[in-house]
Formats: sequence, C-alpha cells, structure tokens
Amino acid sequence: MTQRALVLFSGGQDSAVCLAWALDRFERVETIGFDYGQRHRVELEVRLETIKALRAQFPKWAQRLGDDHVIDLSVLGQISETSLTRDVAIAYEKNGLPNTFVPGRNLLFFNFAAAVAYRRGLDVLVGGMCETDFSGYPDCRDNTLKATQLSLSLGLDTKMTIETPLMWLTKARTWAMAQSLGGDALTQLVIELTHTCYHGVRDALHAWGYGCGECPACALRKAGFEAWRSVGKAEA
Ligand code: ZN
Repeated sequence: MTQRALVLFSGGQDSAVCLAWALDRFERVETIGFDYGQRHRVELEVRLETIKALRAQFPKWAQRLGDDHVIDLSVLGQISETSLTRDVAIAYEKNGLPNTFVPGRNLLFFNFAAAVAYRRGLDVLVGGMCETDFSGYPDCRDNTLKATQLSLSLGLDTKMTIETPLMWLTKARTWAMAQSLGGDALTQLVIELTHTCYHGVRDALHAWGYGCGECPACALRKAGFEAWRSVGKAEA
C-alpha cells in the first residue's frame, strides 16, 4: 500500500531533515506549519524558502512534494505566556523545563496535523522530535507520540502512523542523515536556509548556519555540526 505523508515542518533544521527523509521514502508528501504568534516570523519565512529550494534542487523530490498547509494557532497565545511569544528572556523553570515550553503544544500540533491528513488522504505524520539531545519536552517523547498515534488512529477510525526518524539520533547524526539523503547540496541548504535560533538572529552565516551562537538552540546546533565534522562526514 502506498503511504502518503504529512510532515510537520517548522522551518528548523530537524524538521527540514525529516522532510528530506519523507521525500526520499514516500510517493506523496505534503507539509504543515503552525502560526502561533512566534516572536520571530523568520521561522515562517524560511520554511517557504526551504520548500522552494528543495523543489529547485531536487527534481525527483519536487515531483512528490505537494501542498503546504499553514494553520493559524494564534489561540496558543491566549493560553500560554512563554518566551516564544512574549519578549522575555529564556530561562529554566523549577521543573527543569525551559520557559519556551508551551504545555501540550506538540499534542495540539499532532491533532491538527491528523485532521488535515485525514481530509487530504494522508496516513503518515512525520515529526522531528528527538529524545537524545533534547530539552525534555514531555509531549515530544517517544512514548507520548506512540500513545498519540494510537489515540489518533482510534479517534479518526483510520490507521494514522507517526514517524519520528530523528528520535534516537544525536545532532551529529542528524547532520549525517542530511548528508546521506541529499549530499552536500542538502547539507548546504539546511545550513543556509533553516532556522533554529531562539533569538531570531540571522545577521551572520556561521559554518553551522545563522544564529546568535549562544542560546540553547544555537549551542546544540553548533555542537552537533562540529561533532559531525570532527569525525568526518562518512563516519558520523
Ligand atoms: Zn541563538
């Protein structure tokens, strides 16, 4: 049976690699993004540029890549007060989670993605969640997503599979996956177009991409890139 995928694509490094992974594997791939009043609109801008570049540089994938959907989840701003949507500093709270955490945000994303997938005839949801190098968001953990897969399949009365190809990979291995899927062209695309920085900085291009280089997201991206480069592209 042909599986058709909907990729949760935020414009970040991880979801961009997941999009390439899905394009390599599924005959039909669509993308979904969420506009929840992010402080930095750059995330929503780079996702369109990344899709455009993938279409232009990878003709085989362009044939498979269908519609992009952007869902307005500005309602999240009403129920959450976090540093992603308000101009406050990123800090770690008593429970060990960064204040960037919007409680249950990922659960909402998957529920909306599943509804769109259902209407579009897509049966696989692909997300870039990762437990390995991770801030510990409980709604991004493997067991949460396995339970979500079951809940969605029951609630929609159709098989809905959640794939998380990066779940057990280090950031270095995520770079290696990009390299094996699309060679230098894909890693360069990920470096130059995807956005990870919590502060929305895009003024200087580093070897690992744009960003402030200091925030937890930049630190993770930079360290992963350097680890990948240090062991050599082939062995990571
Ligand atoms: Zn940063």
